[in-house]
Amino acid sequence: MAAFEYRDDRLFVEGLALDELATRFGTPAYVYSRAAIEAQWRAFDEGLEAVPHLVCYAVKANSNLAILNLLARLGSGFDIVSDGELERVLRAGGDSGKVVFSGVGKSEWELRRALAVGILCFNVESEAELERLNHLAGEMSLRAPVSLRVNPDVDPKTHPYIATGLREHKFGIAMEDAVDLYRRAHAMSHIAVHGIDCHIGSQLTELEPFAEATRRVLALADELLAAGLELTHLNLGGGLGIRFCDENPATPAVYTQLLCELVQGRPFKLLIEPGRAIVGNAGLLLTRTEYIKHSGAKHFAVVDAAMNDLMRPALYQAWHDIAPVHLRADIDSETYNVVGPVCESGDVLGAERTLKVVAGDLLAVHSAGAYGFSMSSNYNSRPRAVELMVDGSEVRVVRERERVEQLYAGESLLPD
Ligand SMILES: *Cc1c(COP(=O)(O)O)cnc(C)c1O
Repeated sequence: MAAFEYRDDRLFVEGLALDELATRFGTPAYVYSRAAIEAQWRAFDEGLEAVPHLVCYAVKANSNLAILNLLARLGSGFDIVSDGELERVLRAGGDSGKVVFSGVGKSEWELRRALAVGILCFNVESEAELERLNHLAGEMSLRAPVSLRVNPDVDPKTHPYIATGLREHKFGIAMEDAVDLYRRAHAMSHIAVHGIDCHIGSQLTELEPFAEATRRVLALADELLAAGLELTHLNLGGGLGIRFCDENPATPAVYTQLLCELVQGRPFKLLIEPGRAIVGNAGLLLTRTEYIKHSGAKHFAVVDAAMNDLMRPALYQAWHDIAPVHLRADIDSETYNVVGPVCESGDVLGAERTLKVVAGDLLAVHSAGAYGFSMSSNYNSRPRAVELMVDGSEVRVVRERERVEQLYAGESLLPD
């Protein structure tokens, strides 16, 4: 992908030099490439051309309105996990009729709101949720379109915090309970059963777990059809991984080809919910080195981005490539821990990185487009970073840098 590349010794995003963006907008800054986001979405959509399908972008990966709007313009559907995400999709011009709603803990008001705007499907994760939905839809004189999320008990071979498709996880309905619950759902007066849903985890770098989960879902579909229970779609979730370091996940083209082969000839519309694979490598976190610090045998590059801006290294021990914005030839490289200002020893963006860097230098933390800004917080009362969208040689602020006053705008003192 040429969205991020060096020209001579300077790192560019599409047509713009990152050092100029840092001067204009300050750091830390999230920088996204429009071309990269659109190309990845299209790769999924075109890969599924052979079958009826809908690509539902998983909003939690990056919920910036500008990104949702770009995808809405391409005709994308959306996978949401809260009312907040639903409101973002609507605000960004997304089609409520292309929204699927996932999550184990949908509240009454969230279900009511989604029923009122007429979403495509509720991915129901328990019997109790199904009953609540039937009741609420009844009150509104509606029928709620549902898929039951099944748990195919497949090991996705990923980090335990982002594996979801094993029996012991809180997600989905056990396969052996599924037929019975489908029967009950079909009998409910305010439920319309549309499909089967599954999502086995995130950052999958092997295809076999996807294939195995799909085969198990298809076997269940056959069982349901044989029992006279109709279905119109299969939702195979998201989870395709990206390259952070030396992983070699399948491309969207190879992944979608596999799905097409598995479901070809079946009477189902295919839904998928990729998040990370659309935006992950379409964004980076731009940060400036504040200090170089030597402590015993350790060398630290103390930068102005921190774990509150990008939580993945601290939360998942995730690796993000960290690269200089200016390639230097004038100094020797050294091994650094790249750390932020937050008062936690876990505030390490990258450990043991070989870099040529001096105080004041800019660094790019790559692969930060997914689960970067969307997981960021104000810990240590740090205003969240500005978000920039580059489009050719243009740049737009798609979220302003937070101001300190905003951090305590809703707080109040006790009366005397
Ligand atoms: C998080 C999630 C996704 C997206 O996962 P990615 O790994 O970002 O593709 C899709 N569906 C569900 C139900 C999820 O929870």
